[in-house]
This record gives sequence, structure tokens and C-alpha cells, in this order.
Amino acid sequence: MRIRVSDIQEDGLMVDHVTAVGSFSDPAWRLDAVSLRVLREHVDVLVSGEVLATVPQLCGRCLEPFPADVRAAVDVRLIPRPATADNVELAPDDLDVDFYQNDELDLGALVEAETTLALPMKPLCRDDCRGLCPVCGGNRNVVACACSERAPDPRLTVLKDLATRLSH
Ligand SMILES: [Zn+2]
Ligand SMILES: [Zn+2]
Repeated sequence: MRIRVSDIQEDGLMVDHVTAVGSFSDPAWRLDAVSLRVLREHVDVLVSGEVLATVPQLCGRCLEPFPADVRAAVDVRLIPRPATADNVELAPDDLDVDFYQNDELDLGALVEAETTLALPMKPLCRDDCRGLCPVCGGNRNVVACACSERAPDPRLTVLKDLATRLSH
């Protein structure tokens, strides 16, 4: 979706249809929901809201591919791309500043960039993923291999002995 910046009205623009934004460049990525407000402030454009997407990831523990739910909180200020780079002064509190050019804002590219930024640093197929066995390399979510059983903790054995003796 391309938005002509000079067309953005005083009260801004709401984008809440996935189809309006378009699809990701990677067809395996899926845009599930968008809720974005596009406002114009003189020549700056402010885009804020939320993007929900499903992106294939590899689990960091078991190395299996899985669809990750990605939620991106969007809060971006876009400024016209300057002719020369050295006269750009970014305010320190404006960390999310991007450029647009030729009076045109590519919302699809923005949504894709924000989704990419929101990808998990350490993707996990599920919170309690058991990962791979360090001994045999088997996926512990699938098979409970024998080597995954650790030798009993000697301190626990002492306690168990004590419990047995006390119960007699
Ligand atoms: Zn996993
Ligand atoms: Zn094993």
C-alpha cells in the first residue's frame, strides 16, 4: 500500500485491513491483523499502532521450524528524505525515525520492517520446549531417550534414605 503524503487529511488515516497493506515479500510470512493510524504533522508522517503476523521460525532449542506469532508495536516518524545526508538532525527521543521520498509512503515496506524488528531474538516452539538431548541429539519433545535421565542426585538419595528410616 502506497500512501501519498499530501493526501493525508487533517484527521489522519486509519488502516485496519490486512488486504489494504498487501502481502510480505516472503510468501511464507502471513499478515494476520493491522491497526495503524497515519497522521501528518507538517511534512512529517507519524505511523502508530499494531501489527500481528505469523512468521516461520526455527526453534532455538529443538531446531524445529514452527510458525511464530509476532506482535509489532509500531511508533514511527517518517521524515522527507533529505537531498544530502549531513543536514539531518534526529531528535534523541525519536529513535524510530525513517524516511519517505517523492511524497510517497510505502506502508507495506514499513509493516514488513516493523515485523522484522519484532521477530523473537530466541525463538521457542513453545515455552516448555525440551530441546535436543546433548548426548544423543534426539528431540526430547518427540522421544524420551534413555540418556536424558540424569543420574540421581546423591543429596536426594541421602534424604530418601533418611525418610525411609524415619518411616520405620
Ligand atoms: Zn523447540
Ligand atoms: Zn539422548
